[in-house]
Amino acid sequence: MLVDDADKTYSDLREKGDRFVGEPRDQPWGARTATVVAPEGNAFILESLKCKICGESHQSYLELAEHMKEHKGRAR
Ligand SMILES: [Zn+2]
Repeated sequence: MLVDDADKTYSDLREKGDRFVGEPRDQPWGARTATVVAPEGNAFILESLKCKICGESHQSYLELAEHMKEHKGRAR
């Protein structure tokens, strides 16, 4: 499940009483994820694709990957 801000959604859901398996964390591919277990027992993953360098949000892995390439290109 793609969200704008995994940390915010995480704390919102936590207040509502959903159970979590693990705190939000950064993944090697640049996403930030948190696993949620809803009261009815379904587990799903919250995921936000935010650039670690400039904080820009992206709607897909492809978009984020292209964006990261630009940062790398500029650093060279
Ligand atoms: Zn960026």
